[in-house]
Amino acid sequence: MEGKENILRITPKSSIEVENEEADENGQNDPIHVLNDFHKFLSIRANYHLGYPFHIKYEDSDTMAPLLQFHLNNLGDPFVDRNYGLNSKQFEVAVLDWFAELWDIPKEDYWGYITNGGTEGNLHGILIGLVSKRELHPEGVLYASQESHYSISKAARMYRIKLETVNALVTGEMDCQDLRNKLLLNRGKPAIINVNIGTTFKGGVDDIDLIIKILEECEFSEDQFYIHCDAALSGLIIPFLNDVPNKVSFKKPIGSVCVSGHKFLGCPIPCGVQITRKKHINVLSNNIDYIASKDLTISGSRNGHTPVFMWYSLKTKGHKQLETDVHECLKRACFLKDQLKEARISCMLNEFSNTVVFEKPLDDEFVLKWQLSCKGDLAHVIVMPTVTTENLKMFIDELKQSRLSWFQKGSFYPSCVEEEIGEENCDCDAHF
Ligand SMILES: *Cc1c(COP(=O)(O)O)cnc(C)c1O
Repeated sequence: MEGKENILRITPKSSIEVENEEADENGQNDPIHVLNDFHKFLSIRANYHLGYPFHIKYEDSDTMAPLLQFHLNNLGDPFVDRNYGLNSKQFEVAVLDWFAELWDIPKEDYWGYITNGGTEGNLHGILIGLVSKRELHPEGVLYASQESHYSISKAARMYRIKLETVNALVTGEMDCQDLRNKLLLNRGKPAIINVNIGTTFKGGVDDIDLIIKILEECEFSEDQFYIHCDAALSGLIIPFLNDVPNKVSFKKPIGSVCVSGHKFLGCPIPCGVQITRKKHINVLSNNIDYIASKDLTISGSRNGHTPVFMWYSLKTKGHKQLETDVHECLKRACFLKDQLKEARISCMLNEFSNTVVFEKPLDDEFVLKWQLSCKGDLAHVIVMPTVTTENLKMFIDELKQSRLSWFQKGSFYPSCVEEEIGEENCDCDAHF
């Protein structure tokens, strides 16, 4: 392993303190020096980032940098451009139009905005679901699988609504039989359903068509349910693959979809897109004089730079480059899975996913170095466009090397992960 101080090094805490009393002979406390140091640190750390679905290096920073001189604020409704003029709402609407087309909803029928990320999209989608069904019955019930992102249970707590946690299959996908049972327990109350298009940990995709069928079978009519699709990561993967059985589309009875802009698309600042049906949105607010518009968003002031970043990425990549990125990432994910299998390391890769789940490394330092995200006995690597084959090879070699020392000690053995990833993927001594 490379020197730990090299990889995890951070600028001395004392130079980062805002008010520093110490004498500064070498100019260490000079803010420019501290920033240069930080830049160096990031350049190194970016090579060891495998666990989170972020696009960690942005190539067009020089192009975008001049815009940072201005305070861009897209306050309020993107479709109402009124008093505050330094905004990028035209870019925002262009991005929204692109996503509306991707998800089959005509311009005149949708409403949406650029959020701070997937969480805000989820909070917004679930809020619309709840409020739009309130007339029917004051108590809506939120259904989400146990593999849902933590922002879903946060929404339930914030809005004080009942959350029915639905079981998940080994793939991470919602167990629709369990959904059926739970719907039948709450007949007569509106069902707000969070559908995962790529779960956070395993990249599992819920079967949206089956969910709709089960709602019908349980006699929930279309005005009694609201489906929000959390497509944070896979929302920009699935549309570019052939043969995916149940794609997101507003031709189906869904209410909203959100996707992150800093994940697959690659913006350097957290952001996301939320699209819903125009007919749902008016329940949220009346006119607010101060902003000369309706208050339909979660945040008031909104980042005006991120819409331009998203627009630039879409404009320069287009469908074609995104499609190439998707196929390349899935290919590299397969490569990683095959290499792990060959080394007899328990692992799983879902179809249509760039998330490789595998046995959690035993050494915390290793986990920190590679910035892995772990859950129980598992860890995952998400093969993003910025993760190269060289990165993966280096990772695999180091993992294999480290395992020799972890397991040589004799008191540790790879855990059995049959329950989490299935018998065919588990390579523990009992299942090999
Ligand atoms: C990343 C993620 C989110 C949250 O997105 P943020 O942009 O981090 O708020 C929500 N849902 C899923 C499935 C995710 O993977």
